[in-house]
Amino acid sequence: MTPDPSLERYSRQMRYPGVGVEGQQKLRAARVALCGCGALGTVLANALVRAGVGYLRVIDRDFIETHNLQRQVLFDEADVTANLPKAEAAARKLRLINSEVTIEPVVTDIDRTNILDLVGDADLILDGTDNFEVRYLINDVAVKLGKPWVYGGCIGAHGQTMTILPGDTPCLRCVIPAGPAPGEGATCETAGVLGPTVNIVASYQATEAIKILTGHLEAINRDLIYFDAWENVFKKFSIARLREKANCVCCVQNKFEWLDGLHGSQTTSLCGRNAVQVSHRAASKLDFEGMAKQLGSLGNVTFNRFMLRFGVDGYEFTVFPDGRAIIKGTADADKARTLYAKYIGH
Ligand SMILES: [Zn+2]
Repeated sequence: MTPDPSLERYSRQMRYPGVGVEGQQKLRAARVALCGCGALGTVLANALVRAGVGYLRVIDRDFIETHNLQRQVLFDEADVTANLPKAEAAARKLRLINSEVTIEPVVTDIDRTNILDLVGDADLILDGTDNFEVRYLINDVAVKLGKPWVYGGCIGAHGQTMTILPGDTPCLRCVIPAGPAPGEGATCETAGVLGPTVNIVASYQATEAIKILTGHLEAINRDLIYFDAWENVFKKFSIARLREKANCVCCVQNKFEWLDGLHGSQTTSLCGRNAVQVSHRAASKLDFEGMAKQLGSLGNVTFNRFMLRFGVDGYEFTVFPDGRAIIKGTADADKARTLYAKYIGH
């Protein structure tokens, strides 16, 4: 073993036989796309940056609120005050943790028009999202491009995860053919979520990431892991046979319905809050200075390089430079669309 002083900070990890010097060098050469940097995403980013992955693209559409701090481990009160988007705040913190890692924050909503650009150059895609629309998009792209990805989800005190190696393991649609309809599944708002649960799920995902990136595919989790940390339940569901059994639309029939736009919507009710996102893609970057002047008569308008915020009639608008907005104070998509048209236009 040739000692490499630049790898000294990873000595305890390299001592683990599954990683070693060779595995560490593979991690350093690896590119990872992280979709979503909230609860699961911050734990994933923290683990991978400390582990010494070479490049991490952090993609998130949201800004930070005080109620995120209970479980989103990279953020603090100063980030809330500074009105920073999650991707940007995470990148700043991650660079302090490990300056050797290249971090690319991207503040955007992942959709079918941009996902290929966002994950196309990655060796691995990680799911840090809280919704099935993006997960099915990730699944479509991962299967289409033959890239591994790791699914994770949690609500309350229970969580689940599975690892997808296209062409080898079942894909997400083999196992969960369709997500819950709007208003059906439990959400963080209705069921709450415990911080430690998030850490458990994301830690499984991060370990899978390290296995994949160091080339130890023989060691990956080939089951659906489910646990309830409150009820002391741990289960592994064998899913290996589902691929052929389900004649999967995605990974057997190679139809990429989410990527092709047969599913999906312009508005999304946000998990955990009385808020709706309106995804209106502006042709060019919004002029916040001009908008602030126009909206000034409504009252307090604040903006920085990343977002513009104003309140009217009990609704709070947060607008991003790409034309997207999060409207707080309603969970009704039609209402949100109307409000968007009224105050932001298009
Ligand atoms: Zn499948």
